[in-house]
Amino acid sequence: MKTATSMPPPAKPLSKEDLTSKVEEFPVNYGASIVGITTVETLAGGPPSTDLTYVLEGARSAVTFAVPLDEDKTRDYLGKIDRAGHQKDYTRTSVIADGIAAQLASFLRQFGHDTIAVMQNLVFRNDKPGDLDHRTPPISHKYLAVRGGVGWFGFSGNVLTPDHGPNVILVSVVTAAELIPTDPLSPEDNYCDDCQACNASCPSGFFRNGKTDKVTVTIGGVDFTYTNYRSYGRCSYVCSGHTGLHPSGGWSTWSPARFPIPNDDENLAPIRKEAFEAWSQRPELPGGGMQSPITYSKTQRDVTLTCGNCMHVCHPDPEERKRRTALLHNGGVIVQLDDGNLKAVSPEEAKEHVAAMKPERRVLYEISHPQGFDPKEYSCLRHHSQYGKVKTQ
Ligand code: SF4
Ligand code: SF4
Repeated sequence: MKTATSMPPPAKPLSKEDLTSKVEEFPVNYGASIVGITTVETLAGGPPSTDLTYVLEGARSAVTFAVPLDEDKTRDYLGKIDRAGHQKDYTRTSVIADGIAAQLASFLRQFGHDTIAVMQNLVFRNDKPGDLDHRTPPISHKYLAVRGGVGWFGFSGNVLTPDHGPNVILVSVVTAAELIPTDPLSPEDNYCDDCQACNASCPSGFFRNGKTDKVTVTIGGVDFTYTNYRSYGRCSYVCSGHTGLHPSGGWSTWSPARFPIPNDDENLAPIRKEAFEAWSQRPELPGGGMQSPITYSKTQRDVTLTCGNCMHVCHPDPEERKRRTALLHNGGVIVQLDDGNLKAVSPEEAKEHVAAMKPERRVLYEISHPQGFDPKEYSCLRHHSQYGKVKTQ
């Protein structure tokens, strides 16, 4: 009996041109907003996460595409009106993106081309076995996206698509098929004007190296630039929900925790440890989460969305960026009620809510030893921009 691999493919081979045309149209048919194609040649010289052969021996090309999120649900999330609606939309859109990628991979395999769909998120290399904090993706959808013309890098390093900004799920299909690459989008058309809405929406200070300290990545002879991040631990600390109160005290993410955010990266580790232990004992946020095997292996908990603000405030329309940032900043501070539900209240009410808790519960939400930490190290002094309090250098 013939094995599947020794049999000819069921579909009649297509020319390179026809196959390229088909893979550009395929994701859009199923809901993607924009598609780009890269090849081993157009990715040459890029960072390790642009190496297509890491995920598929003999890989020649990749198709990367964006599936947009629901903007109404994003706005309700930013305004701290509804977390669960956005969480469900994010998860569902991610699964749709993975599903389109799986369908496209199957389609290409039936033309005789080895192909693999690379999940949009929550899949990692195991290149430091045993280190659960080391998370490198198999390939970078972001790098492939900017090189293939799916979007531009904004100041934030998020990929800004022309119609939906970074409010999309990116996913890629890696194939042994020879495809015709697409060009990067013209830098002159990049809508990012360094407005700093992303910076002003980030409680962690991740982007606080500002406009003058940027990194440039060269992929296939083309340069791509975005701001130089501070410690990734900053984003992990806030984005994972371990804390959420902005250093101003005036607004928060969807996290009900108020652990301080240090000015210096070297002060991050001890406070993150305390905040992580508190997070792992707090009631889980209602409304579901994302299935992350690494996080689950550490905590038996799912990843609940509480931030992502830098992505959600960014929009091609600058007026919409202002509206979204105002929604975030004026939406109050999240507290967790006795029944586990979340509620946005004024900054003063939030402070009183936590202060009224019994000590054994209070330590799940804020620092247990305020007398033992120096507020100057955590003050995050900022100046005002049109989008709120931001410090840039
Ligand atoms: S929010 Fe403003 S500065 Fe940040 S990436 Fe978007 S357009 Fe650029
Ligand atoms: S996800 Fe949140 S914490 Fe992370 S960089 Fe964006 S705004 Fe900052």
